[in-house]
Amino acid sequence: MIEVRGLTRRYGDVLAVDDLSFTVEPGKVTGFLGPNGAGKSTTMRVVLGLDRPTSGTALVNGRPYASFAEPLREVGALLDPGAVHPGRTGRAHLRVAARTNGIPRRRVEEVIERVGLGDAARRRVKGYSLGMRQRLGIAAALIGDPGVLVFDEPINGLDLDGVRWIRGLLRRLADEGRTVLISSHLLGEMEQIADRLVVIGRGRLIADATTERIVGGLGHVRVRVLTPEPDRLLAGLRGRGFEAERVDARELLVEGATAEEVGALAHACDVPLHHLSEVRQSLEDAYLELTDGSVQFPGHEPVPAGGGAR
Ligand code: ADP
Repeated sequence: MIEVRGLTRRYGDVLAVDDLSFTVEPGKVTGFLGPNGAGKSTTMRVVLGLDRPTSGTALVNGRPYASFAEPLREVGALLDPGAVHPGRTGRAHLRVAARTNGIPRRRVEEVIERVGLGDAARRRVKGYSLGMRQRLGIAAALIGDPGVLVFDEPINGLDLDGVRWIRGLLRRLADEGRTVLISSHLLGEMEQIADRLVVIGRGRLIADATTERIVGGLGHVRVRVLTPEPDRLLAGLRGRGFEAERVDARELLVEGATAEEVGALAHACDVPLHHLSEVRQSLEDAYLELTDGSVQFPGHEPVPAGGGAR
């Protein structure tokens, strides 16, 4: 479990993280979402003991990261997949990580197998594709068999196969009971991968709830209508209390109605329709709305104060 409580990190004039609190529970994949510059990496660095909070705390299994004698057995992290000695082979890189953390050598072969690095483990890292570097970084994160995993933008730059692979791996890691926190600015992906979402903007918490709740609560439906008589339909819709607007000479957008309702009303008003469809607001749209600060997420679940260490 990861607990972030009242975390603030300032860099000079920049308030990178602003009184942030959230909990990441075991057995689930938690997506940490926010636009670039929102403060995700800073928060993760503090969780991993690579940066100090200005105030507040970040605990892993109830303790600060720095207090662990063998941290790789507690937390595995993927921060910057480029941060590997380019002249080493993948296997040598993992062996160094194992040796310096008192982890048996056989574990190196297990994680190579687990991430599907295969024969590439024999090659020097400088020849690796981004996808292979990601796999190697994840292998290094898994080497101490930790219960907590923190991956910063693990999907960045991966091809479709790589994305599918990561999706499956994260699911299995969570199903094994581990705590899995992954940051991303890619909402479409997070929607498919994460059980819960912690959304931040400008260093502050915007939403903390199940993915279903966030997507369901935000992805409202609008109806798009094409008709040669938009004014008559518009009057009819407004007369029934629907919010509708003219988009152009023939097109209307209707809020708060289903396609069925709009179709029935058009029929009742004797207005011909050339097109009728439901347009689901994309998560991207919803997210922009959320992060521009003007919209308060309605389903926000407050994080319980205090909280035990587990
Ligand atoms: P994200 O990971 O969500 O893109 P970051 O945590 O990297 O966001 O950055 C949050 C803000 O803090 C940004 O404005 C960034 O420029 C600033 N920042 C991050 N690290 C430093 C640093 N070491 N020194 C100064 N400013 C920083």
